[in-house]
Amino acid sequence: MKLKNKVAIVTGAGSGIGRTTARMFAAEGASVVVVDIEKKTAEETVDSIRKRGQDAFFLRTDVSKGSDMEAMVAQTIQKYGKLDILFNNAGIDIAKPIVETTEAEWDRTLNINLKGVFWGCKFSLPAMMDGGGGIIINTASILAHVASPNQAAYSASKGGIVALTRQIAYDYASYNVRANCISPGDIMTPMAKNFFDSCEDPEERMKFFTDRYPMKRFGEPSEIARVALFLASDDSSFITGQVIKVEGGFSIW
Ligand code: NAD
Repeated sequence: MKLKNKVAIVTGAGSGIGRTTARMFAAEGASVVVVDIEKKTAEETVDSIRKRGQDAFFLRTDVSKGSDMEAMVAQTIQKYGKLDILFNNAGIDIAKPIVETTEAEWDRTLNINLKGVFWGCKFSLPAMMDGGGGIIINTASILAHVASPNQAAYSASKGGIVALTRQIAYDYASYNVRANCISPGDIMTPMAKNFFDSCEDPEERMKFFTDRYPMKRFGEPSEIARVALFLASDDSSFITGQVIKVEGGFSIW
C-alpha cells in the first residue's frame, strides 16, 4: 500500500491512462477524486474502484475552466480535508500541421492541455502548502521532445507542460512539493485509437509508428500508471522537476 491515507486527484480519469492510474492509486490505498468532462465514462471508473471496496468519487470538471478547477480543489478539501497528489493528465490531440490549424483548434488544445495544468497547479498548491506538502505529476508527451508529423498545437502544449513543471518544482520545493512529468510514447488508449482510425490507412500508419520503436510495440496504460505511482509515492522522494520518458526507446535514435 504505497498511497495509504493519501488523497489524489486524477484528471482525465474517465479513460485510458487516467482511468488505469486512478484504479492503481485506489488499489494502493488512496482516496481518488475521478475528474473528467465526460460523466458516463468517469462514473464507470468510480464504479470499478468501489466494486473492489476502494474509495473514489467523481467530479465533473472541465480542466480548461478556472472556475471548475477551483471548485474541484475546494470540493476535494471539503470531502477529505486535504490534497496530497494531483495528476494533471486530461488532454486532447488535434493532429494538424500549423498552416491548417485554426485559431479555435490552437486555443482548444492549449486551453485543455496546458492551461488545464496551470489551473490545476494554481489551485492545488495552496492546499498542498497548507497541508505540509504534496506531489504534482503532469502528463506531457514524447512530442514535447521530438517531432512527429502534423502535431503543431499538441507538441507546443506538451513542451509547455515540461517547462511549467520544472518551474513549479523550483518555486515550491521549499514547501515540500515535488513536481514531475511523464512523457509517454504511443499508448494504446481511446485517444491513440481515434488518431489511427482517422488516418487514411490506419494499419500502414500503425506500422510506420511501431517501426520507429526499438521495442517494436506501443505501450499499455498500466506502463504509464506504474510510473505515476512511483512518482506519487515515497519511492521517488528525491526526484523533482524531472521528465520521465516512458516510450520504449522511441527518442533514443
Ligand atoms: P484518452 O482520450 O483515452 O483520455 C483522456 C481523457 O481526458 C478522456 O476521458 C477525456 O474525456 C478527458 N478530457 C478531455 N478534455 C477534458 C477536459 N476539458 N476536462 C476534463 N477532462 C477532459 O487519452 P489518453 O491517451 O489516456 O491520454 C491521457 C494523457 O496522456 C493526455 O494528456 C495525452 O495527451 C497524453 N498522452 C497520450 C499518449 C497516447 O498515445 N495515448 C501519448 C502521449 C501523451
